[in-house]
Amino acid sequence: MSQAQSAQTVCVVIGASHAGSLLAVQVRKEGWQGRIVLISAETHMPYHRPPLSKAVLAGEKEVDAVLLRPALLYSNNDIELRLGEQVTQISRADKTVHLASGETLAYDKLALCTGASPRRLPIAEGLAGVHYLRNADDVAGIRRQMQSGKRAVIVGGGYIGLEVAAVMSQQGLQVSVVEMADKLLQRVASPVISDYFRLLHEQHGVNVLTGVTVETVRAAGDELVVSLHDGAELVADLLVIGIGVLPETGLASAAGLEVADGIVVDAYMGTSDPDIVAAGDCTAFPSARYGRTMRLESVQNALDQARVAAANVCAKPQIYDSLPWFWSDQYDVKLQSAGLRLDHEHEIVRGDPGVIDEKGISVFYLRADRMIAADCVNSAKEFMACKKLIAERLPVNLEALADLSKGPADFVAQS
Ligand SMILES: Cc1cc2nc3c(=O)[nH]c(=O)nc-3n(C[C@H](O)[C@H](O)[C@H](O)COP(=O)(O)OP(=O)(O)OC[C@H]3O[C@@H](n4cnc5c(N)ncnc54)[C@H](O)[C@@H]3O)c2cc1C
Repeated sequence: MSQAQSAQTVCVVIGASHAGSLLAVQVRKEGWQGRIVLISAETHMPYHRPPLSKAVLAGEKEVDAVLLRPALLYSNNDIELRLGEQVTQISRADKTVHLASGETLAYDKLALCTGASPRRLPIAEGLAGVHYLRNADDVAGIRRQMQSGKRAVIVGGGYIGLEVAAVMSQQGLQVSVVEMADKLLQRVASPVISDYFRLLHEQHGVNVLTGVTVETVRAAGDELVVSLHDGAELVADLLVIGIGVLPETGLASAAGLEVADGIVVDAYMGTSDPDIVAAGDCTAFPSARYGRTMRLESVQNALDQARVAAANVCAKPQIYDSLPWFWSDQYDVKLQSAGLRLDHEHEIVRGDPGVIDEKGISVFYLRADRMIAADCVNSAKEFMACKKLIAERLPVNLEALADLSKGPADFVAQS
């Protein structure tokens, strides 16, 4: 009898967000007969994280309206959801995890879905009015200070910083975005997309500063004074720092698992311990598709890895090689990206990137005349077509890509 089939076995899942919550459900679906204990350091029922910088920050939805699954689903699947419990240590020798409460839990299989945490800006540490955005409590803290007319400085022009800037400027705050790189979204987007988003934000009145580093942040009464390297100063009522995240690998490395910018997993989401899997933002995984080890921060990656890890726990190994995809919502603009723009040879732009309207634009990235990635703005049909083209490595009708008289159905070359 396999471990999955024995009612005496225990599967412990650490972290109950996109990866952990699905992994627990999938382990049950894959036939795990024993206990499943899903442990979350957060006190909220597991919720969708992306709305935190969108509808929840805007006050359009409460966290309770964006739960990943209803509470009943956990109990119906006999999943013991333990909220507000921090795992402090993994003892691999006796296969136990230790909780901050002092409790010890034995496991047969362990899943690490510990996610990532915001990279901190040491010069702003400890100051009132300085915020990071990762969880529901962070949003509540920002919202308390987010009244119309206030001055907000966002440090970091990545997706989270820009989504926050969009919500705040729409709510009447005076917003500045300070980005160290020469372009917004430099790490993830092409110059065309980056310039498009700069224009979008500037049209909404956001003061976008790129190629600028923050030298110091100091409190002056109720205000924060942000000094930039060129000597300029920005005065703010609140500061939101969005300068990337670091994978939560502390438990794994203390337990002697292999860690290198993420918990190192194989294509089956197995760690260097055969009884421990990992999934989501916390992993460094081998991508056959891209021929390298990588770490991704997206809901798609967390969910698809969770499915593979759950199958592995139940001894039904599958390989993780999904096409990465991602989205971001800013104002009325939805960006959807498929594939990664690694080593592309040329790009084709569809639409006019100098015009922001509901028609949107798309940028297609090609190598050897195959599409390897696409960024589609307000172009859901193009995005769906590109996802298929990229995933299935279909031949591309290059002329159709930029031709607005042709639709996404024409993107595949007819042989
Ligand atoms: C504001 C915001 C907006 C985003 N928008 C998008 C978007 O539009 N599209 C997109 O694809 N992605 C988006 N992302 C990224 C996406 O949310 C993450 O990729 C996803 O949440 C990763 O899921 P995860 O389960 O791997 O980790 P996480 O969501 O980070 O969850 C990890 C969980 O583990 C818990 N944990 C960690 N250590 C312990 C421990 N020792 N004991 C107990 N619990 C522990 C943490 O408290 C946390 O709840 C966004 C992220 C943020 C923060």
